[in-house]
Parts: sequence; structure tokens; C-alpha cells
Amino acid sequence: MTMAVLCIDFGGTEIKLGTLEGADIIDTASLPNTGDESDLTAVREVALRMPGRIDGVGIAVPGVVDRARGALVAAQEKYEWATGRDLRAWAATTFDAPAVIENDARAALLGETAFGCASGATDAVLLTLGTGVGTAAIVDGVLLRGAHDHAGILGGHITVDLDGPVCNCGNIGCAEAIASTWALRRDAAADPALAAALGAPGIQALGIKSLIDHSADPLVAPVLDRFVRAWGAAIVGLCHAYDPSVVVVSGGVMRSADILLPRLTRYVHDHLWSSSFRPPLLTPDAPEHSVLLGLSAAAPRKDQ
Ligand SMILES: [Zn+2]
Repeated sequence: MTMAVLCIDFGGTEIKLGTLEGADIIDTASLPNTGDESDLTAVREVALRMPGRIDGVGIAVPGVVDRARGALVAAQEKYEWATGRDLRAWAATTFDAPAVIENDARAALLGETAFGCASGATDAVLLTLGTGVGTAAIVDGVLLRGAHDHAGILGGHITVDLDGPVCNCGNIGCAEAIASTWALRRDAAADPALAAALGAPGIQALGIKSLIDHSADPLVAPVLDRFVRAWGAAIVGLCHAYDPSVVVVSGGVMRSADILLPRLTRYVHDHLWSSSFRPPLLTPDAPEHSVLLGLSAAAPRKDQ
């Protein structure tokens, strides 16, 4: 029977599962994120029906992870049930295999440098766009964690506008508070004309893709431009901090990379410190698989 790593990506709107052998994806499944502890039972039921013998488990969560405790320290509201809970112990008991728990952006960067668009890079940063703005950094071949597991992953919470909105993290004018799915929904809820121009049946259906799809509209174009500048400013900050040879921009919306990537690249290259290397901005072939690939690379195995 195939030995496989079970990878579980707890995302903002759905939970993705995959069984992988290295970079080979054997099977995938997804289920809705209900924001309730019962999600663990649902994950177990789906995972145990997937092919392959589970040899190791990798879990990604959208928040700060205490690697020593195997627990989520802080995350968005959908994961209140998981905060402080030892997910590594849950996985080890449920699947009888050793497990690792990782921040989702770190896992995505690990996946893209191990198997993907930045394969082999020893100095790289990642920005992932979606419900929030996740980041991660690898410097001199080391995935940054810091003294308290916060290093590299809060690049979306760099202030890019001192007079900007208060972020749900408590800081002011974070890139994420200006340019993310939740920021767009907040702005559209406060501006019916913008909501109408974005063409969604309801605020909760809006995403960054709505901006791209309606970017020819004169009300939408400046909003997309502000989003690009906020992300660009965050990337410039990451490049100034970490001096990468490549920047990975991920997230499902990067399937529209032909619209976003040239604009982001221009912003970043125009605003970097004069002698800074101008790194290429790359997007994964399958941004939806970055996290699963990283978990496959990071997960411990039974006989190790
Ligand atoms: Zn913030």
C-alpha cells in the first residue's frame, strides 16, 4: 500500500485535504469550514476514506502557531475553537502518525521552494492574497520563525498607510486592512455604489476576483489600484527586510496573474532601495496546491 502524507489545510472558507508522496498529489478533497470544532470530525471522516496509508500528517492554519506546543496561538475568528488546542496531538491520535502544524503562508513558501515555482531558492519571500494577506520568508536557506514563531508571517500587517483603517489585529493601516477580501467587503458594505459596480449578488460573495473582473468600471479601477499599491508596499517592506532573490505571490486570485503580476512588479521595482536587487515576482502554476506541497515536505514520517 502506498505510504502517504496526509496534508490538511485549514483555510478561511474551506478545508483542503490531500494525500501526497513528496510532490506527487495522490488525491485531494475539500469540505466547508463551518467555524466549529465539529470540523475536526468531518476532516477525520474524509481523510480516512482517502487512498494510501497515512505515514505522517501536516496541518496548516491561518494564524500564529506555537511549534513547540503544536497549537494555534492566534488566528482569525473562524478558528476560535482551535486556539490553544494541541492539533498535533489530535492528529497523532486520530491517524496514528507523527504530525507537524505550520502557519499556512510558511507552508506555502516551503512548498514553492521545495517543489514549485521557486524551486531551489534559498532566499525567498511569499505574499499570499485572499481572505487576509499572509507572508513568509526564507533567508540563507532557513525558514524564519523568530524567538516566538512570529518572524516573517506578519508582513501583511506592516503599516502602509498611517491614516488608514484600524486593522482587526489592532494596528493601523496594515496592507491587509486596506487590500484583502475582508477589507473589500467592509468597503463595499459602506459604499452601495461600489458594491453595485462590483456586481456580486451580496457582500459575502465579493472577493479580490470581483475587483479584477470589474476593473474597467471607473468606480472599481481606483480601488484595484489602491489594492495593488498596498500589496506592492508590503512586498517592498519584505524585500528591504529580507533581501530575497525571488518573490512568490500566491493565493487563488493569482490565477489572474496576467493582470496583477506586471502591475505589482512595476510598483516593487520602482520603489525598492536604489542598490537593492530587483527580484522577479513569480506565481505558482497551481496556487491552490502550495500549502499541501509544503506540508508534504515538512511532515515527519513514522520511521524517522
Ligand atoms: Zn493588521
